[in-house]
Amino acid sequence: METTEFDFENRILTTEYTPSDSEIDLSLRPKHLDEYVGQEKAKENLNIYIEAAKRRGEALDHILLYGPPGLGKTTLSYIIANEMGVNIRTTSGPAIEKQGDLAAILTSLQEGDILFIDEIHRLSRSIEEILYPAMEDYSLDLIIGKGPSAQSIRIPLPHFTLIGATTRAGQLTTPLRDRFGIPMKLELYTPEELALIVRRSASILGVEMSEEGAAELAKRSRGTPRIANRLLKRIRDFALVRGDGRITAETARAGLEMLEIDALGLDNADRRMLEAIIRYYDGGPVGLETLAATISEEAVTIEDVYEPYLMQIGFMSRTPRGRCATRLAYEHLGIRFGGGSGTQISIDEE
Ligand code: ADP
Repeated sequence: METTEFDFENRILTTEYTPSDSEIDLSLRPKHLDEYVGQEKAKENLNIYIEAAKRRGEALDHILLYGPPGLGKTTLSYIIANEMGVNIRTTSGPAIEKQGDLAAILTSLQEGDILFIDEIHRLSRSIEEILYPAMEDYSLDLIIGKGPSAQSIRIPLPHFTLIGATTRAGQLTTPLRDRFGIPMKLELYTPEELALIVRRSASILGVEMSEEGAAELAKRSRGTPRIANRLLKRIRDFALVRGDGRITAETARAGLEMLEIDALGLDNADRRMLEAIIRYYDGGPVGLETLAATISEEAVTIEDVYEPYLMQIGFMSRTPRGRCATRLAYEHLGIRFGGGSGTQISIDEE
């Protein structure tokens, strides 16, 4: 197998946030719940919780949003704040280094405010301990001083709502997870939902796009709005330089081909990983760490960025003994299925 040089740092299909997303993220973020496409179950529940909290004049219960990156956890949190008519403070697990950092944030909140903590699974234990009484009793327990003269004081906090976002709910400690009254899982989006999202985005950006053009982008966005918007931006440039600025099915296809994104939204990185499972491990099972070492990628990136979509389209499966490539993956890569070890494998180079 010839390995293609691939720029993993600048992978266009990464679901993770990249600095070039900031411009599009801000302008394209829906502000109201009814503009937020898909996630019907979550929206329906939220509508009720928001309405009830507003009628009672109370803060919303704490919410845990979990699911792969780029599905709209941050966006939804801003929408909730907007719908509730309250302020939102945002921070992230790794940004809070000391107990004092969190204490300062908590004491600056006002009644009803939302505190959004992204990557909440990365909070350290000692910081989590500050959160427990804050979430449960709206109070801050602080130890002042050291040694025998140390004193514990309790400061009341305003009634606030914590929204925690995580790509890995399984890594949250039980006491923290149990303190969220509203756990919500965000799902990958269907191509139809993504087509709605790119059409909405195209109209905000003032780009003319045909329905087929939108469908073409949607199909290749790995179920992820962040990728759909990013592809739209790239294809907009392509259509401007190579065509008349309009995004049609043809310009979308040609542009995506140039970006080496195939008809199902797989890029070289996906293909390389699937080929590694097939070629070196007979299609699997192969353990996550072993696979990560084989393709020089981090295990968490495989779990968060590669796998959710590849599993959704039925190209990969997870078994207790490791990851497997499925028959569909073989077919997509043009490799004969069920060859067993020692079989000559032919790979269609793109
Ligand atoms: P996460 O916090 O889960 O990583 P974000 O909230 O940052 O994801 O969403 C990434 C981008 O995708 C946002 O800029 C937003 O424009 C878009 N987006 C996400 N979810 C939706 C949705 N349901 N409808 C429309 N656009 C969305």
